[in-house]
Amino acid sequence: MFHDQSEKYLKEAPPFEAAKLEDYQEAIGFNKLEKLKQLALPLENKVWAHVNSTYVGGGVAEMLKSLVPLAKGVGINAQWHCFEAHTEDFFYITKKFHDLIQGVEQPFDVDELHGVYIDNSIKNFENYYVKADLTIVHDPQPCATSVFGNYEGPKLWRCHIDTTSANKLIWNFFLPFINHYDGAIFTDKNFVKTGVRKPVYKVAPSIDPTSPKNKQLSESEARRILDPLFNKHNIDADRPIVLAVSRYDIHKNQATIIKAFKEIKKDKELQKKKPILVMVGNTATDDPDGLAMYGQMMEERENDTDIFLLMNIENNDENIGALMRVANQFVHISTKEGFGLVVTEALWQGTPVIGSNVGGISQQVINDETGFLVEPFDIDQIKKKMKYMLLNPKESRMIGKQGMEHVRENFLLPSLLEKYMVLMRYYLGIDKNQPYFKIG
Ligand code: UDP
Repeated sequence: MFHDQSEKYLKEAPPFEAAKLEDYQEAIGFNKLEKLKQLALPLENKVWAHVNSTYVGGGVAEMLKSLVPLAKGVGINAQWHCFEAHTEDFFYITKKFHDLIQGVEQPFDVDELHGVYIDNSIKNFENYYVKADLTIVHDPQPCATSVFGNYEGPKLWRCHIDTTSANKLIWNFFLPFINHYDGAIFTDKNFVKTGVRKPVYKVAPSIDPTSPKNKQLSESEARRILDPLFNKHNIDADRPIVLAVSRYDIHKNQATIIKAFKEIKKDKELQKKKPILVMVGNTATDDPDGLAMYGQMMEERENDTDIFLLMNIENNDENIGALMRVANQFVHISTKEGFGLVVTEALWQGTPVIGSNVGGISQQVINDETGFLVEPFDIDQIKKKMKYMLLNPKESRMIGKQGMEHVRENFLLPSLLEKYMVLMRYYLGIDKNQPYFKIG
């Protein structure tokens, strides 16, 4: 789905209500909340802008819709501006760049780079200004606006994707734009490639514990929420669920999950358990490949009635949270992953995770402590861990609980806001010391 083509320019998100800070106290405690308030004092009414390319779908939109209200809750004038596609092929091309940066080789040409991509960057700012005390520009889609946009005030490029094996030509194309920012933010220090000449910060994304998706649920609450979904798809609520949630995308490696599941369900010890695989995905406006990939997964599934491939489910947020709560295990074995908010969401519900040892997943899944780490194509290990969790639900849940505490400490929204406030204070000259998470 593209944005309405009649809307030709970058636009600002509809105003968000400020979040109530007290709503976060239960998740992070009184002391952390007070610290946030203190940090925010000199930032009252300062403008903090975000620029990205979609309001719906994917991790960035997911985070911004909570981060902007929370920043408002501490008194910051937070704004969210969304990039528009002017030509039908813009998001196809930026998705291609996204894949190339994540190491999927494919041909690209000058017209895509300098025609469509740069043209869209220029057009978005033809009648638009972003004036802020700090602007954060997210991901490759609007990256070139550092040169072609109208910004006033310091700006940082926030890279959410796994750049470890980026195609060299595409990376070199982006470098001058990246170096036109006042700094760059990466999720992991391994993502920082040579050629970045500006200060680099390491910041992990986060989830909002007060959002409908991340409300911590009791099992019975979760089952009540799921009733209509399970009825609609004829899912037997009593069978243990192996769960996977993400966009249908080549890097999410969903085919391997299906293969591994098909094999373990034949295992004699598991025949009585009768597990099912529930895979849920959605489409993002800036990701046009989803439907084709969904079709491929349907082929992979063949006509296995123990495998449920769902797409754009109704009551998405509550159902995702509830599924993560009731699942026996959550599997996320991407081949590349900027961070993987779905892993954070599953751990926050106390559900044990099998995660691949790539990108941001390994910050969250500490092997044998907060989950199990595997190599993305190591099907034997994946099967072994799936089986272990199905046979030992109580022990696995203990690991899930440790994961939950790891998330509480490191990956909840207030931690993210705290880091951004440190950055704002630094770029405004309020604090002279460099941010403690500066890595280059
Ligand atoms: N998501 C969702 N419904 C779906 C699939 C995904 O709400 O059917 C959400 C998911 O809960 C998470 C986000 O989309 O909050 C995906 O973020 P992640 O960092 O895992 O992956 P990305 O899509 O950014 O690569």
